[in-house]
Amino acid sequence: MIAKVIVDVNIKKLNRPFDYVIPRHLVELVEVGARVIVPFNVRKIMGVVIDIYDGPVIDLKEIESCIDLVPTFNRELLKLGQRISTETASNLIHTYKTMIPSAMKAKYRKYVVEDKKVYLDTLTIEQQKEYAKKIRNGLEVVYEVTEKGSIKTEKYLYIKEHFEVNTLKQQQVLDFLQDGRVLKRIVLDNCSASSVNTLKKKGVIAEEEVEVYRDLDFISEDKRVELTHAQNEAVASLQEGVNLLHGVTGSGKTEVYIKWIENIDKDVILLVPEIALTYQMIKRFKGRFHDDVAILHSGLSEGEKYDEWRKVLRKEVRIVIGARSAIFAPFENLGLIIIDEEHETTYKQEDSPRYHTREVAKLRAEYHNCPVVLGSATPSLESYARAKRGVYNLIELKNRYSQELPLVHTVNMSDEPNAISSFLLEKILHRVRNKEQIILLVNRRGYSNFVMCKDCGEVIQCDDCDVSLTHHKYKNRLECHYCGGTKPVPTTCPSCGSKRMDFLGIGTESVEEELNDALPGIKIIRMDQDTTRTKNAHSKILEAFGNREADVLLGTQMIAKGLDFDNVTLVGVISCEQMLNLPDFRSSERTYQLLTQVAGRSGRAVPGEVVLQTYNEEHYAIELVQKPFEEFYNKEMEFRKLAGYVPYFFVESIMLTSEDYRLLHAEAAKLQKYIESRLSPQARVMGPVVPMISKIRNYHRVQIIVKYKKEQTLLNTYTEIEQFIHDKVDIKIDRYPNYLG
Ligand code: ADP
Ligand code: ZN
Ligand code: ZN
Repeated sequence: MIAKVIVDVNIKKLNRPFDYVIPRHLVELVEVGARVIVPFNVRKIMGVVIDIYDGPVIDLKEIESCIDLVPTFNRELLKLGQRISTETASNLIHTYKTMIPSAMKAKYRKYVVEDKKVYLDTLTIEQQKEYAKKIRNGLEVVYEVTEKGSIKTEKYLYIKEHFEVNTLKQQQVLDFLQDGRVLKRIVLDNCSASSVNTLKKKGVIAEEEVEVYRDLDFISEDKRVELTHAQNEAVASLQEGVNLLHGVTGSGKTEVYIKWIENIDKDVILLVPEIALTYQMIKRFKGRFHDDVAILHSGLSEGEKYDEWRKVLRKEVRIVIGARSAIFAPFENLGLIIIDEEHETTYKQEDSPRYHTREVAKLRAEYHNCPVVLGSATPSLESYARAKRGVYNLIELKNRYSQELPLVHTVNMSDEPNAISSFLLEKILHRVRNKEQIILLVNRRGYSNFVMCKDCGEVIQCDDCDVSLTHHKYKNRLECHYCGGTKPVPTTCPSCGSKRMDFLGIGTESVEEELNDALPGIKIIRMDQDTTRTKNAHSKILEAFGNREADVLLGTQMIAKGLDFDNVTLVGVISCEQMLNLPDFRSSERTYQLLTQVAGRSGRAVPGEVVLQTYNEEHYAIELVQKPFEEFYNKEMEFRKLAGYVPYFFVESIMLTSEDYRLLHAEAAKLQKYIESRLSPQARVMGPVVPMISKIRNYHRVQIIVKYKKEQTLLNTYTEIEQFIHDKVDIKIDRYPNYLG
């Protein structure tokens, strides 16, 4: 028998299966979907078996050994990986590795329990075969993570043999254990420790260490609600295929999700943009579905991820909540996939494979024949356009559950001397006096605290990247957000020698200072990168704010979404522009989404208002905040149509990088011509252009942008160019770019 194996080598040109002979002694072990070890050149490397067939053995090497006794990939996931790899023009082995939870890559040993623990790595081939059969017939394989400290255990005591005991204290211990195992620390809290020890020595009782699932620090909250008429209608209109649930902020989308999940008894994947930022929502799911829920996300340690994943494999849960990669949860009976806040950029993976979760969800749903729900108050233009054309089923919740949408004021900042306008300051004061709470957003994307010379205008830049360095006050260093390099803050200008170096830009820290000065005694909680470094910092901050320990929650984008606090009646945005000024065709859409989302935190239980500070009062992305979504959609669609962007055209990016500037530009020009020649005249192949950031880590960058409506040969072309591009030029094909440049 011959196996087709995808090998774990990071070379684009080897993105195809290699044939290996399955030696006779491994025939019953190697299965499709299993990981194996194969010889490759002089090394031994991991590979994934994607097919097994009978054929002539001509000059083939043999598979060395089999890693999995139960295949890691079932048929669905194996095929899914192939689809993703083709669709995203990426390496298949990368895709497979992305789909495996990192716990599976962690160091672990596997064992089965019969009379005793049998470690699979101690078996002979003959024994392995025997166990493979048993495992296929239901014997359970346990993964034991061998990393030190990654497993949490607890000690239990139990009665081993019944004996007459001679003291009351010892009898007390046995009484305590008569119904079975009890946690040792509980026994010790109630009985005499010396009696416990004596009984242990006599062999009457025994101690056992049991692995426990780590507690995830999610407090659950069970809030049963009666759905409104509108919500019930939304629940009833779920259809096969893709559904877009467009509901204004506070309309009760979460309640509708919960109802859908209650209504089916199959497995459910619920995706959220980022777990730390959606902790309130998770609390509600935990409260409603308890141990039926596993939570998967990147903030977990290896061991924790492994715990959660194992719950899925063991069918102990039927609901997985997680960030992007949870779309690969190995459920076999999927009944529903929900992508909450579907417009978020985190659903797209920026590293290879550059997949979009929405597209993967569609593939899985197709296989399982189950519906997909995309939910948002501010859907992406492409999703809304599809819903309008009837490609997706549009489900709408037009009103808030309990309140009107908040009143929006815009303040022109041209004549304001400070970061906080007098108008906003007055409103803050008023709300504080009323014992109500405030959320202030300092919008920082594409903007930062940089250092500039007052005399010559020199801005301190990274030596290796074409970007200005950001000043981090808490470390008092300048940091590059692209390569991570740092520099001390200069006291004199490196260009003209002047000592007049100035710190520019508004950050959360400076706004906090300003607010403290203006309103002494005001209680502020700051939530930004600096205050959320430690584990669970997000939920602690939000918990404190929820307990009304502060008047103001002041933060960056991370406070803009999903928060549901009854007592917040004022939301202020310090400056609306930064994102609007980015040279990207989605900058209006992103600005509108962010402002609408943060505005939506105000007045959820009692009437509230919103203050937007801006220099662009008339810009539709600001003017239309909290107006019906259609109005923004129509405006933005006009622009997209004129400029030829998504959703009228697909827009894809090919980024080329190299240390060699001239080679890079020569290759890029050649590539542009080639792609153009392969596509129809309707496609536009633009560039090569130098993106806004022209250099990162000393690698020059140049970009080609492909715009098209329908191209049969596109994917083939992408595969071809990967093959012929110069070795010293790196190429990144991005079919779902979040940002251009
Ligand atoms: P969204 O996700 O659309 O912003 P949520 O699901 O968070 O909205 O709901 C907003 C608030 O209104 C939550 O506190 C929620 O519990 C409450 N709510 C929504 N629907 C109902 C209902 N039918 N009965 C009681 N409370 C509700
Ligand atoms: Zn200078
Ligand atoms: Zn840098």
